[in-house]
Amino acid sequence: MIDAFAFDGLPVRVVFGHGTLSRASEEVRRLGAKRALVLTTPQQAAEGQKLGAALGSLFAGVYSGATMHTPTDVTEHALTAMTDCAADCVVSLGGGSTTGLGKALALRTGVNQLCIPTTYAGSEMTPILGETRDGLKTTVRTPNVLPETVIYDVDLTMSLPPGLTATSGVNAIAHAVEALYAQDKNPIISLMAEEGIRVLARALPVIMATPDDRDARSEALYGAWLCGACLGAVGMALHHKLCHTLGGTFDLPHAETHTIILPHALAYNAPAVPDAMARIARAIGAADAAQGLYNLAKRLNAKLALRDVGMPESGIDKAADLAVTNAYWNPRPLERNAIRDLIARAWSGEAPIATKAAA
Ligand code: NAD
Repeated sequence: MIDAFAFDGLPVRVVFGHGTLSRASEEVRRLGAKRALVLTTPQQAAEGQKLGAALGSLFAGVYSGATMHTPTDVTEHALTAMTDCAADCVVSLGGGSTTGLGKALALRTGVNQLCIPTTYAGSEMTPILGETRDGLKTTVRTPNVLPETVIYDVDLTMSLPPGLTATSGVNAIAHAVEALYAQDKNPIISLMAEEGIRVLARALPVIMATPDDRDARSEALYGAWLCGACLGAVGMALHHKLCHTLGGTFDLPHAETHTIILPHALAYNAPAVPDAMARIARAIGAADAAQGLYNLAKRLNAKLALRDVGMPESGIDKAADLAVTNAYWNPRPLERNAIRDLIARAWSGEAPIATKAAA
């Protein structure tokens, strides 16, 4: 039987392949733009200049100040740069941090965005923007921040270091995992979610062994697209809320925090969503979804403990309190003690344990 559902397709044009960066000019023109501002992080400034040269007469300038969590003061600087060079569109070349800046500019000016992702974070496929003002991160969901066009060029991901490849890949898997038990889940997104988990779980260990394997890199980027589309289409639950709280409160690294929390959040929700657990287990080829994802992270040499990414032990109680403070939908009701236990296990890096929901 198919449960009743509603489905909104996201209107993003996607161009995928090897060497597709060379189509950037054509795609800028397709958007009707004449002057493109290229955005990057400071670390990817040279790639931004190179892209600028390739854009030729469409190149208005480059702004290389994108940084994690989209601080509003950085956005203000970028807005000035945009006005100074009279740009009429933005081209974001980089990971989620750069995509976030492009979205923040689109929200304020209404310009079109061409997004060229170089990690697996998935932000390019979502109508979601998280911004930080005075240390406080808030999230808005509006179609105005969804990029018009996304170019996925597998060649750009070849330089993604193995450590970031692993955690960014598991970050993507987390979007698909929660899509499979989302309150507003639907059959199309669930198909994309299962396929996204399957290709990433297969490709990531291959990339760790041979980082320049072009086929595995291409599968991983394809998986990241599918998982990003899941994040953009349906609501997330405990795992994403927990990572958001932990990241914001203790300034923890985004993708690594997702990688550590995922098996534990999944073990917590397992009793409430047996069908989703079976699909995840099938996709990663394991007997148990939570344990299988823990083993995958181990195999990828990712950090398994929050204490190893900078969270103090004294923060466990605070995190548990915060996790149950703002009510949000989750397939299993939020039980403070069981959530505290899962955070404590994630803090010390233990394997996940499925707990029974309170009667
Ligand atoms: P990131 O964009 O901060 O990139 C991490 C570092 O890796 C940067 O220095 C970057 O320049 C470098 N890098 C990126 N691609 C590279 C490549 N191919 N080769 C070498 N170096 C490369 O990290 P991220 O994990 O992609 O993004 C995290 C941010 O994205 C967070 O702020 C998070 O909140 C946000 N995010 C938002 C959404 C959304 O839907 N709004 C979704 C996912 C993530």
